[in-house]
Amino acid sequence: ATAQIGVTGLAVMGRNLARNLARNGFTVAVHNRSPERTRTLVAEHGDEGTFVPAESLADFVAALERPRAVIIMVKAGAPTDAVIDELVPLLEAGDIVIDCGNAHFADTRRREEALRTHGLHFVGTGVSGGEEGALLGPSIMPGGSAESYAKLGPIFEKIAAQVEGTPCCVHVGPDGAGHFVKMVHNGIEYADMQLIAEAYDLLRAGLDATPAEIAEIFREWNTGELESFLIEITADVLAHTDADTGKPFVDVVQDRAEQKGTGRWTVQSALDLGIPITGIAEATFARSLSGHAGQREAARRAFPDAGEKWQVSDREAFVEDVRRALLASKIVAYAQGFDHIRAGSSEYDWNIDLGSTATIWRGGCIIRARFLDRIKQAYDQQPDLPSLLVAPYFAEAVAAGVPSWRRVVADAARAGVPAPAFGSSLSYFDALRADRLPAALIQGLRDNFGAHTYQRVDREGSFHILWAADRSEVAG
Ligand code: NDP
Repeated sequence: ATAQIGVTGLAVMGRNLARNLARNGFTVAVHNRSPERTRTLVAEHGDEGTFVPAESLADFVAALERPRAVIIMVKAGAPTDAVIDELVPLLEAGDIVIDCGNAHFADTRRREEALRTHGLHFVGTGVSGGEEGALLGPSIMPGGSAESYAKLGPIFEKIAAQVEGTPCCVHVGPDGAGHFVKMVHNGIEYADMQLIAEAYDLLRAGLDATPAEIAEIFREWNTGELESFLIEITADVLAHTDADTGKPFVDVVQDRAEQKGTGRWTVQSALDLGIPITGIAEATFARSLSGHAGQREAARRAFPDAGEKWQVSDREAFVEDVRRALLASKIVAYAQGFDHIRAGSSEYDWNIDLGSTATIWRGGCIIRARFLDRIKQAYDQQPDLPSLLVAPYFAEAVAAGVPSWRRVVADAARAGVPAPAFGSSLSYFDALRADRLPAALIQGLRDNFGAHTYQRVDREGSFHILWAADRSEVAG
């Protein structure tokens, strides 16, 4: 046995992860259900490092040094369980099974518990960065036991993306913590993309500009606080011209956004935990809405001219308004995402360090961005921060953006341009900072129709009004 680590599942992700490991000097055992993939990998990239190919799972396991570390990189769901079932009888106590697929954290918790009864470590690990990240340095979010991280940490930290000498990999916490954080990462990615898309739409409507002109605006934005991978590739996509028609590429693409489901998982989990991640939810619903072609067609016919003409007088000021509104809305989305991680950590006893989570996302992944440094600083300075929104840097950026944010959302509403994520982020901000919320009326209604009781601002206890009798107040 010579291999320090093994990878089973050699489609795009597994193959690139195995190459990344080999290029970093690790001896990697490689296996795939259909052996052609294993042969192709060794034939095409065998010279990049030391691979130990195996055609059977038994040979693959036999090639690994003990305690064995096996990465599973197969289609998430039933295939992962099938591979685990086949692997477990071949392993021994102390061995480590790592699932780098996009598993739901609840599945990871179930698998971790099951493997623990066999004395095995199960490490659900979120990997972000797509194909290229897997090869050149992904963002890695490992869960599982501290003991397993003692072996895996040095390997993962070496192959992860590095930002200013710091690896984008930290042990997130036990069992499903890694996959949970990966899930929220994807949710934030949905919100980030939706906000960018709305900003583009607003600029296009307000300025009557071409996608290529808007690409320049995004390029400019990418030199400041908004600097991020997504802003960079937005400029790239907007500047692209369709070879067939000569039209802007973005105008020949069907306007129906697809999803693989991690945004939905994030929203479902947030509903269970009672955390208002309105930005991520709006982004997820906006994708669903875009796909309802029949309803959209019917509504388009019923309401052809429901908005006013948009006349922007000061173009530069408008662009700056949209930039500030985008930054403020983005801060809201991240604040909500981190609230969600904090709630998950507390519900499942994960003890997740929020600042370190921001470090993991600084490089390698889709939401990599300059401002993640600020998130790390904010939580380092105050670990029990009630919301990222009130950390000094973010509070300042939001406060500076409020007038712009209101103008943009109001202008969009008047012109009939949908801006659901901009609008709901602003409402979230206003609701959080309100002196009094109309939730008091909701409590009154609940007491009226269902005797659900209410609490008073001036006295302890629960109360109820005898609505159907003399309307006197009684203890609830
Ligand atoms: P796929 O999700 O397309 O999965 C294909 C791989 O799964 C093949 O190796 C296939 O083997 C194997 N497989 C499928 N069913 C079984 C089974 N029942 N038993 C054994 N092996 C099986 O591959 P990707 O590389 O795209 O993704 C791998 C994982 O990484 C997924 O969980 C995905 O969600 C996750 N991921 C993907 C990212 C991406 O950008 N693509 C980014 C981050 C994570 P065979 O060749 O024999 O068919």
